[in-house]
Parts: sequence; structure tokens; C-alpha cells
Amino acid sequence: MKNFYSILGVTPDSTFDEIKSAYRALVRKYHPDINPNGANMFKDISEAYETLSDAKKRLHYDTVNGFFKSAKTKTFSEKAEEEYKKTTTHENVQKKTKDEFSKKINDIFKSKKKVVPKRGSDINEEISITIKEAVKGCERTINVLHTTECPHCKGRKFINGTLCSVCEGSGENSEHRKITVKIPKNVKSGTKLRIANEGNFGENGGKNGDLYLKINIEQNSRIQIVENDIIFKVPITPFEAVLGGNISIPSFDGNLSLRIPAKTNSGQKFRLAGQGIKLNGKNGDLIVVIDIEIPCILSDDEIKLYEKLKKLSAQNVRENLLNG
Ligand SMILES: [Zn+2]
Repeated sequence: MKNFYSILGVTPDSTFDEIKSAYRALVRKYHPDINPNGANMFKDISEAYETLSDAKKRLHYDTVNGFFKSAKTKTFSEKAEEEYKKTTTHENVQKKTKDEFSKKINDIFKSKKKVVPKRGSDINEEISITIKEAVKGCERTINVLHTTECPHCKGRKFINGTLCSVCEGSGENSEHRKITVKIPKNVKSGTKLRIANEGNFGENGGKNGDLYLKINIEQNSRIQIVENDIIFKVPITPFEAVLGGNISIPSFDGNLSLRIPAKTNSGQKFRLAGQGIKLNGKNGDLIVVIDIEIPCILSDDEIKLYEKLKKLSAQNVRENLLNG
């Protein structure tokens, strides 16, 4: 016979809470993940706890091994029996079935175990969105790894006093869950959105944690947002630069028309008032920064015309560079 009490370092009159905390301390010491030489000890500890943490098994163990008689103080099982007798007349005891007696013990057992609801932990995630999505708002579906209640033991960690085989006593499980998040328009980079209740699960009926989603706005080589202003580097062709005229600019709210003067240079800026970000009752501006760009596709005819321009060109634009 193995003495489960001495294995756990407790006595036959120890309460369930005392047994549980002794067991936990030993698990921390002998769990094979922590202590590679602890496998046999861990097996004994688990076996002892499996019996002593279950009121029915403990009563049976105490009875079979004589812990009723040898213990100086009353054992847990004796106390349970006494409490039961106090509320029951002798005749009734005879009539009660064995199951009812066990149920009474279980009730006492349950009342000793204090269940404290524990809030689940928060989850932090990051997502990247484009500037357009940031300005216009968008919806994103993200896949978040959550802890959830173990479906096997329902978070109780033990089943009839035995460590749950599915969660190995952690009471929790991990699963990926798809969450659709609405990202509000005009969101700033670095904003943390709070999605209530989508964090890790709360133990013992505690509330779930929250999900915090940090927004990263992807860099865009052409567009920058500075407070409420949109700074937009807009390409124009060499002939548009020379001749000027109306150019069409794509914006987040459809196309805009901008009249540029003849002989517009790269780097020249044009402000379109009120066409920036509309936030907190304030309208930012759209600042167009001109960027002369050579089209990728040029026909032979176009090249010929450029050659003609080259011959006609009278001014050397680099002539006075060092004199200015
Ligand atoms: Zn479980």
C-alpha cells in the first residue's frame, strides 16, 4: 500500500485545500518538464492526488487502509460522515442509499473548494493597412489565437480527481478564431483599437479579456498624412510640365482637377484647400507636389519629336549652376 498522505506530505486530517496546495508545490518541483529525474515521483504524486482530491475515492482509500482508526484527529471522511449524521436521524441513515451519502460528501467537498472568477488576459495584435484604408476606413478579418476553456474538463482541470488528459490540467485550450474588425476612417498610425471580450477566456465564469489591435499604416512613397493635410507627390509628363493645363488627380473621394501653369517644375506645390482629411470638424488641405515623370512607353514618333526638340533647344539649363 502506498501512503498517499506521506507522498504528498499531508496528514489524513488535511483539508482539500491543503492537499491541493501541497500537490501544486510538488508538481512545480517534480513535473518532468521541470525536473527530468522527477518522472517516477511525479507519477506517485499524480496517483496520490487523484485519490485524495476525490471525496469518494478518498473515503474508500481511508476505509481500506485504516486511516479512520489510526489517525489521531478525525479524517476528512469522518468529518463528512459526522456532518451528515448531524442532519439525519438514525432510522433515516439506514434508509438512505449509498449514492445519497456520496452526494452529501460531494456537496461538503464542493463547498470547501472556493471558486474565484478570474478575468481572462488581454491579447495584443498588430495589423498593417494602406493609407487609403486608413483614410476611408475598412473592415479586416484577422485570425487570433485565443485560449479557451478546455472542452473536455470545462476548465475544471480535473475529471473525477484525475488530471484532465486533454489540457493536462491547465483547464484551457488554444484555438484560432476569425474576428472581423471595423477600422474607423481617418485612423492614425499607432492607434490601438480595443475589441471588448475578444481576449483570452476568463476562468470560473470570469469575464474574457479584451483584444487590442495596433494599427500600422504602410508607408506610401507618394502620399504622406501630416495632421489633417494630405501631401501627394503627383507625376506629370514633360509636355504637361511645359504646356501647363488641367490635370486630373486621383483622390480618396474621386478625381480632382488641378490647373497647373505652363513651365511647371518638379517640386512645385499646389494647395487644394479643404481637400485633405476631414476630422474633428477641421478640414485639412491636399498639397500636390509636382514630380515630372518620363512615361515608360514612348513611341518612335515621340522619340523623333524629342530629337527635334533637342536640336531646337537654345538654352543650356546647367549653364549658370555655379554662379547662382
Ligand atoms: Zn481539460
